[in-house]
Amino acid sequence: MSDPIVSRLSELGKGAPELCDAAAIYGALIPVLREAELGALPLSMTPDEVRLKISHGRPVLADIELALDTQAVSGLLVKLALSLEKSARKSDRLPVEAGRIRLAVEGGLLDVAALLAHTAAGERGPIDSMAHDLKLDPALVLLLARNSLKPALRAWHRQLTAMTGEISWDRGDCPICGAVATLAEFQGNNQARRLRCGQCGADWQFSRMKCIYCGNDDHRTLGFLYPEGRHNSVRVEVCEVCHGYLKVITAFSPNSPEMLPVEDLATLHLDYIALEHGYSRHNNSQICRK
Ligand SMILES: [Zn+2]
Ligand SMILES: [Zn+2]
Repeated sequence: MSDPIVSRLSELGKGAPELCDAAAIYGALIPVLREAELGALPLSMTPDEVRLKISHGRPVLADIELALDTQAVSGLLVKLALSLEKSARKSDRLPVEAGRIRLAVEGGLLDVAALLAHTAAGERGPIDSMAHDLKLDPALVLLLARNSLKPALRAWHRQLTAMTGEISWDRGDCPICGAVATLAEFQGNNQARRLRCGQCGADWQFSRMKCIYCGNDDHRTLGFLYPEGRHNSVRVEVCEVCHGYLKVITAFSPNSPEMLPVEDLATLHLDYIALEHGYSRHNNSQICRK
C-alpha cells in the first residue's frame, strides 16, 4: 500500500518544480520521523495544573524542564541528517551541510541538549551563534533540531489532549508548545475554523474574524486574498494593522500532525501571494500575549 504522505509529496514535486527541493527534504525526513523512538517521557503534570497554566495564558510546555531523553533525540537528529545526506542530489550543497552537522553531533562538538532547549523555547539567536561557531548552516541546524523534537512534542500533545480534552485558548500561538500556528483549517460540515500547530499537531478553536498575531478584530482592517481562479477551499487571511497573514485550508477531517508540514508546503503558492502583497508570517516575538 502506498503511503499517503509520500505520494502527496511526490505529486507536489511533479506539479511544482519550485517545491521539488522542499518536497525531497520532507520525503527524506518523514519516514525517519515515523519510525523514531520517541525519547519523550510522560509529563508529570495533573489535569488541574495543565488547566491552571492554560488559564494564565501560558503554553503548557513553557518554563518546565522537558522530560527528554537527549541521547535518543540526538540519535534521531543524526538519522535525519543521514537521510538528507543520502537522498539529496549529489550536486546539492545540502548533503554536504547535513553531513557536517551529523559529524558535529557525533563528535560531541554540537551541544545537542542546549540546542534542543533553545529550539523548544523558540530562541533563534543562540542557535545561530552555535551554528556559526562550528561553521554549520544555521537554517539546516534549526530544521533538523525542530524535526528531531517533533515526535516528543507530538507525544506530549497526545498525552495532554487525552488528559484535558478541549481547552479554551483564544490565541495564535500553540497552547501546548507555544509555536505560532502553521495554518488554519475549516473542519467538517460546520466548517469550524481551527488553528493547527505544525510542531506538536495541536488543534484549537480561534475566533473567525481575528488576527492571530495582534488580536485585531476590526473587520475593516482584516481581509482575504484568494489564489487565481478563486478556489473557495483555500485563502489567505491578512491584517492591515500588523501586516501578518495566515493560510486557511479546508479539511473535511483534521489533518494528522504528520500531514501538516506537507499541507504547509502544498500551499506555498499562498505564501507567494501574501508576500507579493507585502504581508509576512510573523514569529513568536511578534505575537501579542494579551
Ligand atoms: Zn504546538
Ligand atoms: Zn494583526
